[in-house]
Amino acid sequence: MGFEFSFTPDQEAFREAVRAFLEREVRPIVAAMDESETFPTATVRKMQAEGYFGVPVPEEYGGLGLGKVGYCILLEEIGKVDASHAAIVGAHTSLGVTPLLAYGTEEQKKRWLVPAAKGEKLLAFSLTEPGSGSDSGAVHTAAQPDGDGWTLTGTKIYVTNGQEADTVLVMAANDAKKGPSGGVTAFLLDRGLPGFSVGRCEKKMGLHGTSTAELILDHVHVGPERVLHEVGKGFHVAMTALDVGRVSLGAASLGGMQAACGEALAFAQNRTQFGLPISEYEAIQFKLADMAMSIHALRLMVYHAAANQDRLGSDPSKWGRLERAAKTREAAVVKCLASEWASDVIDEALQIHGGLGYIRGTPIERAYRDARISEIFEGTNEIQRVVIARDLMSRGL
Ligand SMILES: Cc1cc2nc3c(=O)[nH]c(=O)nc-3n(C[C@H](O)[C@H](O)[C@H](O)COP(=O)(O)OP(=O)(O)OC[C@H]3O[C@@H](n4cnc5c(N)ncnc54)[C@H](O)[C@@H]3O)c2cc1C
Repeated sequence: MGFEFSFTPDQEAFREAVRAFLEREVRPIVAAMDESETFPTATVRKMQAEGYFGVPVPEEYGGLGLGKVGYCILLEEIGKVDASHAAIVGAHTSLGVTPLLAYGTEEQKKRWLVPAAKGEKLLAFSLTEPGSGSDSGAVHTAAQPDGDGWTLTGTKIYVTNGQEADTVLVMAANDAKKGPSGGVTAFLLDRGLPGFSVGRCEKKMGLHGTSTAELILDHVHVGPERVLHEVGKGFHVAMTALDVGRVSLGAASLGGMQAACGEALAFAQNRTQFGLPISEYEAIQFKLADMAMSIHALRLMVYHAAANQDRLGSDPSKWGRLERAAKTREAAVVKCLASEWASDVIDEALQIHGGLGYIRGTPIERAYRDARISEIFEGTNEIQRVVIARDLMSRGL
């Protein structure tokens, strides 16, 4: 297989357009959004109008048709400006849009995918429960057969976009004893369905622009048209979404690392101590060099994984078992390294800022609080290592 690494003129033009949009519309509101801990409705609407909530979706389904590489360009650029906006787009696109594109019937695509890709509707993804986090196949929310449909009962937690979403992809147990192998089913639940409500919204260390909501399902009756993919295949649905999510999380981390490195470099070249800019001291230079190395390596990894996902396409029935395993391992590697490198880079960038880095309201202080979650959500880094080690033992290096 050939290995090419360059962006097309169209991809470069898309990056420039996104960058200009973010500088004009998003950067000016980020500090106030963080301070007030509010969902950025106005900027999200503007991003929806630009088509940024349907970047990897083919044009025939209302998207921009720019594939996973285009989608990672978007998230890298957003990551440079604000992690909350990146998480909002990611929860919608990676975790909501991807499974609809992969598994939706034509009817479901018309009803849920097209408006989501056009930016008319916001999506969320709900797997986690109070008793089921890393052990995500052990879902307790019950899906009981009921006539020709289902009745869903249970509590989900930590749902990004949970408060604002028009539709949530909810994983429920059709047979709790079977767990991930046949016991979990994916359901498309719209806001306003009787019995479906938003509960508590968490206060968080960072990502202050995102909602992290509890969802309550109190005997929610749904018809069979709301089952995505087959009954019992919900765990596959979730893992297909997470493979995309983990690479796009890497892209957003890549953006965050570049912003932090850029700020640290500019600060170091301007801050004078002992008669010299601190950038003249080797201790500072080595920190900056380490940042540049991680950024360089992560850029190659993210776009390699995204290009591989584009090459495989979005129809899982066409993926071989080994291709699927390689895709999952690559996504876990990207997610794990990206989040750990981002934490390290942002920590060192904060250190270069000295006391100023610890002062509330500086971009590096916000970045530090925002970055930590990436080691936890979309599967903790311990779980990424479990995924990688299992595949290593099965397929070798
Ligand atoms: C801000 C935020 C947004 C989120 N958004 C979403 C969302 O949109 N949708 C959604 O479904 N979920 C979401 N989550 C949930 C997130 O994915 C989970 O928090 C995460 O998967 C970990 O689950 P847990 O919190 O139950 O931790 P636990 O699973 O209880 O883990 C606790 C610790 O034990 C470790 N551990 C567990 N099992 C093992 C093992 N086998 N080997 C080694 N170590 C292990 C973990 O790595 C962790 O360090 C979100 C969470 C947060 C905080």
